[in-house]
Amino acid sequence: MVKKINKAIFLDRDGVINKPIIRNYKPYSPRSLSQFKIYKDIKLLKNFKKNYFLIIITNQPDVKTKKIRKEMIKKFHNKITNLLKIDKIYVCYHTDEDKCLCRKPGIKFFLDAKKKFNLSLKKSYFIGDRWKDMRAGSKAQCINIFLDKKYKESSKYDFNFSYRCNNLKGAINYIKKRDKII
Ligand SMILES: [Mg+2]
Repeated sequence: MVKKINKAIFLDRDGVINKPIIRNYKPYSPRSLSQFKIYKDIKLLKNFKKNYFLIIITNQPDVKTKKIRKEMIKKFHNKITNLLKIDKIYVCYHTDEDKCLCRKPGIKFFLDAKKKFNLSLKKSYFIGDRWKDMRAGSKAQCINIFLDKKYKESSKYDFNFSYRCNNLKGAINYIKKRDKII
């Protein structure tokens, strides 16, 4: 089905779609199916499908460092798409050392999505819970929503956002209000 829409809700994965593993106020990616717990709030995004593409952009460097296999990441993503149809999931498997363009705060995937779905990035949202997300969202000129989970790192970096809240529901309410969706 071709949608006549030109905006997206870009979503980070860990901390937005699923619970991160928290150690010492720092988030880590889950590594097993039993650790992979999806927030119930993602079902609220179903109502947005007719007006927005839903696109996940996630950094998963644990694949490069061999802490997890790609097959497991695919199983996680099947769990997500069984609950909510996602238009595209972009995964960067690199680490900083690879100096790739796709790892956030890099914006290659935003630009790829813009081309693939014919998007206006300025009308699109990005919801993330870390400074790298917000830096990427700003660079891509998206409307940034910061899910502030009070990680230790968040006070160490400068980044910009249009709205701050602490869960996906708050972010969704902001989008509704801003885009006047009833
Ligand atoms: Mg995250």
